[in-house]
Amino acid sequence: MRHAAPWLAALALSVGLAACSSGRRSAEFTLDGVQPPALNCPVPPSQFGQATPVPDFHEGNGCGVSQGYRVYAISEVGFSQPALITCDLANALNSWIASSVQPTAQAVYGQRIVGLTVAASYACRPRNNVSGSKLSEHGQGDAIDISGFTLADGREVNVLRDYYGSAADQRFLRTVRAQGCGVFHTVLGPGSDPYHRNHIHLDRQRERRGGGAYCH
Ligand SMILES: [Zn+2]
Repeated sequence: MRHAAPWLAALALSVGLAACSSGRRSAEFTLDGVQPPALNCPVPPSQFGQATPVPDFHEGNGCGVSQGYRVYAISEVGFSQPALITCDLANALNSWIASSVQPTAQAVYGQRIVGLTVAASYACRPRNNVSGSKLSEHGQGDAIDISGFTLADGREVNVLRDYYGSAADQRFLRTVRAQGCGVFHTVLGPGSDPYHRNHIHLDRQRERRGGGAYCH
């Protein structure tokens, strides 16, 4: 056991640092070029899922959510944690689940998706948590990160583990990602950059240089 102490000390130090950096409110970001999110609310999310409205709030620094909802489920697809997102994004998720996620799951696995693993929704932080970059779309409730899809049989198709996994999992994950482009204005995931290797980022940022969606 003589050698355990330095190892434990190193572990304690790294855990302490991790806790510090994740708990600290994210430092610096710029608002240059940040557009307000869309305020479309064609259907209140409580009509197609489990959701409760959240009063508009603004935390300063450009962060806040208008027409926000805390969404627990969409069309009987439960969220692993409630997502704080705009009504506009919730409607886009509903369309994508109905038009892409469920048909693809039926085609690939012969069963439906019953859950989404939500890695992040509203968060007041810079893009990719990189200090000095632009305010993330997450800072306006206009973005969601999905790290997994739970099948009716209980298995989770996990983005990090399965994106380069079995042929079926690859087909499912790549299809729903590709079909998200358009419904969402930004789609990022494994291969986009190192920040997105474990989740699919979907947002509804309105303004794109030259219009169109950014799906990389
Ligand atoms: Zn994201």
